Amino acid sequence: MKIGFIGLGNMGAPMAANLAKAGHTVTGFDTAAVSVDGVTMAASAAEAAKGQDVVITMLPNGAILRAVANEIIPAMDEGTGFVDCSTVDVESARAVAEQAASAGLLPVDAPVSGGVGGAEAGTLTFMAGGSADAFAKAEPLFEIMGQKAVHCGDSGAGQAAKICNNMILGITMIGTCEAFALADKLGLDRQKMFDVVSTSSGYSWSMNAYCPAPGVGPKSPADNDYKPGFAAELMLKDLRLSQQAAEAADADTPLGEAATRLYEQFVENEDGLGRDFSAMLPRFEKRHRT
Ligand code: NAD
Repeated sequence: MKIGFIGLGNMGAPMAANLAKAGHTVTGFDTAAVSVDGVTMAASAAEAAKGQDVVITMLPNGAILRAVANEIIPAMDEGTGFVDCSTVDVESARAVAEQAASAGLLPVDAPVSGGVGGAEAGTLTFMAGGSADAFAKAEPLFEIMGQKAVHCGDSGAGQAAKICNNMILGITMIGTCEAFALADKLGLDRQKMFDVVSTSSGYSWSMNAYCPAPGVGPKSPADNDYKPGFAAELMLKDLRLSQQAAEAADADTPLGEAATRLYEQFVENEDGLGRDFSAMLPRFEKRHRT
C-alpha cells in the first residue's frame, strides 16, 4: 500500500518504520526535523497525504489533530483510509471522522496501548472506532504495527475504550502504591505483600505486570529508577480526557476525578514530571496522614 504517516515522534517513528520494513511505501511528515528508516519525508502534511491508500496520524492532542485534518482532508482521494492513532478527546475524534466521512474518506479512530516498546516491537493493541469498511481497510496495517486490534464500534468508540482503560489503570496504580506504602508502615515485607496480593483478589495489571516496588515482581520501570515506561504526565493527559468525557456524558467518576487530581499534583507541584507513573509509590512513602 501507499501510506502517508503524519506525526513521527516517539510512537509514530517506530510505527512508520515497521510499515516500511513490511514492504509498504511510506511517505512521512512531522513539523520537527526527523528522519525515519525507510520513510520518504514530504514538505507538508498535505503533500504526505496526497495520493495515498491510507493516511495515519500520530499526534499530541485533539487540537493539533483537528488542524492537521483540515489540511489533509482536501488533499486526499475519495475512498482513502484515514487512521488516527493519537490519544485525543472523544469529541475531536468524532468531529474529524464526520468531516472525513463527508469528504468520502474512510475514517478510523484507533488509539493504542503498549507504549514506545510496543511501537518498536510491533506489538501494540489498537482499539478502533469507525465503519466496518474503514476498519477493514486499516486492519492489515494494524497487524503489522500491533498484535491485536479490537473494532469497538462507531467513530469515537476507540477513544472511549482507551480513556476508560487508562482511567482504570490510573486508579489501580494509585491503589497499589498506597497499599504498598501502608504495608511498609505496618511492617509487612514487600515481597510477601506481592506474593499474597498478586495471587489474591487485589491483583491487577499494576501489581502483577508492572509492580511499582523496586526488586519485586517482573522487571518494571521501578527497577530502573522510575524512568518511563509510561510517564506520569501522559497518565495525567489520559485522566484529564476521561474527566472531560465524563463531564460531557454526565457520568459520575469520583475515583477517576481523585486520580486526576493526584497525578496533577504529582506532575505540576511535585517531582512527577518525566518520571514513570508508578513513581507514585516513592511519593506515598514520604507522606504522612493529613
Ligand atoms: P511525541 O510528542 O513524541 O510525538 C508527536 C509528534 O507529532 C512530534 O514529533 C511532533 O513534532 C509532531 N507534530 C506536532 N504537531 C504536528 C503537526 N501539526 N504536523 C505534523 N507533526 C506534528 O508523542 P508520542 O509519545 O509519539 O505520542 C503520540 C500520541 O500517542 C499521543 O496522542 C499520545 O498520547 C499517544 N500515546 C503515547 C504513548 C507513549 O507511551 N508515548 C502510548 C500510547 C499512546
